Amino acid sequence: MKEISKQGIETLVKLQEAESEIVRLKTVLGKVEKEKIKLSAKLKQFGNALEDKKENLLSSEAACRDIEREIQIVDDRIIKSNEKLRMVKTNKEYQLLLREVDDNKKRKDALETELLEYLDEKEKTQSLVQESQEEYNLLKDQIEAEQKEIEKKSTDDRELLDEYLGRQNDIGKNLDKSLMDQFARISKMNKGLAVINVQNEVCNGCFMNIPPQLYIEVQRGGSLITCPQCSRILYYINT
Ligand SMILES: [Zn+2]
Repeated sequence: MKEISKQGIETLVKLQEAESEIVRLKTVLGKVEKEKIKLSAKLKQFGNALEDKKENLLSSEAACRDIEREIQIVDDRIIKSNEKLRMVKTNKEYQLLLREVDDNKKRKDALETELLEYLDEKEKTQSLVQESQEEYNLLKDQIEAEQKEIEKKSTDDRELLDEYLGRQNDIGKNLDKSLMDQFARISKMNKGLAVINVQNEVCNGCFMNIPPQLYIEVQRGGSLITCPQCSRILYYINT
């Protein structure tokens, strides 16, 4: 069995204290980070919906322009036909041009009706975009404020984490490298709990009984003893 001094055990206990705080703070900060990501995703989703509405408005505007252009073309045709009308020589030509003007006027009427519908649609989309934009701006302000608040709250935790990481590093300098590695390995296996005290022959890590002989040895101190069930390093404090 590997030997370890009383001081060595005390160092391991201190290392565990730092490790437990590090694990706790990392969990808290991880949750904070997740919350921030969730808020950003919410804003992005809303932003995407707003972009879709803006796209709709653009196509609505383009459709209106297309019809207006077509009306212009038909209008030009009517003007030209009317000019020709003044210069025709035969009745047949006159009748033909008259029908052309008439057809174009009907076409123009139809287009104007269509344009009204499109303009109506455009107006609706415009107010939807405006509404959505205002909601988005509000949500953005709200989310940014929330994120700032979260950030502020976690500043203390982050400072504390740095402090414990530093402390762990300092302790590690005074500890045997193989012991440090063993600690890290056990900690990884046991969610950050590598060193644990034993009370009444029970390991406080896995709450299983340990053999009486082993318990006596832990109480006596001087050797590095691990729990046969969970592999955690055991120590004894007389309470
Ligand atoms: Zn155990």
